Amino acid sequence: LVRIDGLTKSFDGRRVLDDVGLEVRPGDIVSILGQSGGGKSTLLRCVNLLERPDAGIIELAGERIHPAAGDLARLRQRVGMVFQRFHLFPHLTAVENVVLAQMKAAGIGEDEAVATAVHLLRRVGLAHRALAFPGQMSGGEQQRVAIARALALKPAVLLFDEPTSALDPESTGEVLRVMRTLADDGMTMLIVTHEVPFAREVSDWVAFLDRGRIVEEGPPQKVLDDPREARTRAFLTSYG
Ligand code: ATP
Ligand code: MG
Repeated sequence: LVRIDGLTKSFDGRRVLDDVGLEVRPGDIVSILGQSGGGKSTLLRCVNLLERPDAGIIELAGERIHPAAGDLARLRQRVGMVFQRFHLFPHLTAVENVVLAQMKAAGIGEDEAVATAVHLLRRVGLAHRALAFPGQMSGGEQQRVAIARALALKPAVLLFDEPTSALDPESTGEVLRVMRTLADDGMTMLIVTHEVPFAREVSDWVAFLDRGRIVEEGPPQKVLDDPREARTRAFLTSYG
């Protein structure tokens, strides 16, 4: 569903992604692990063109995303993104945040947008918080609203950039539980995370990104339980 090949990106002459290739098949959960500064966020940001790659190919459902002069708004609708810090509108309630995304990004009418928002807030376990403002919600609740908002655009794939690293353990559990239900429902997801046990449990494929290169990848049992590379082992010792 997502195919990345030869992806290269530099900032100020420093190579942050170096010839990265990765494939996410329909319904697959692919987790990206690696040390801070290794290029994980940059990789995700290239997939929805929040960053412009210097070289390489990115395809979504067989359609060229990069290089191409495609429709950015349509691309962002098909590639949902959940950030470490939720990025909700603070002056809008939970339901309004989910409604507005649909009306602005997808041109969906208000009635349909509200119905979808109510349904999705129920799905992430927040029906009772629909009228709360972000400032009145826990981090875990805000992140679940952000997930509902991403789902509302009916993306082909969801990107998660360390969705739980700003959360306390209880909120982390809530968010991982929601992500697990999405995985069970067959959602295609590309997840940057430091939650090694979670990655082991839900992933179909794990890639270890180090200093801009994928140094090791494979099924979670292989990469996480029997890593080949010293750098992967060092990472797992600190996070596993
Ligand atoms: P973390 O685990 O800390 O989130 P990461 O693996 O997501 O790290 P990136 O955020 O992709 O790493 O950053 C990779 C490198 O690129 C870092 O050295 C970072 O400082 C640099 N970098 C990222 N974005 C920019 C930017 N817009 N301009 C300049 N340098 C950047
Ligand atoms: Mg990052």
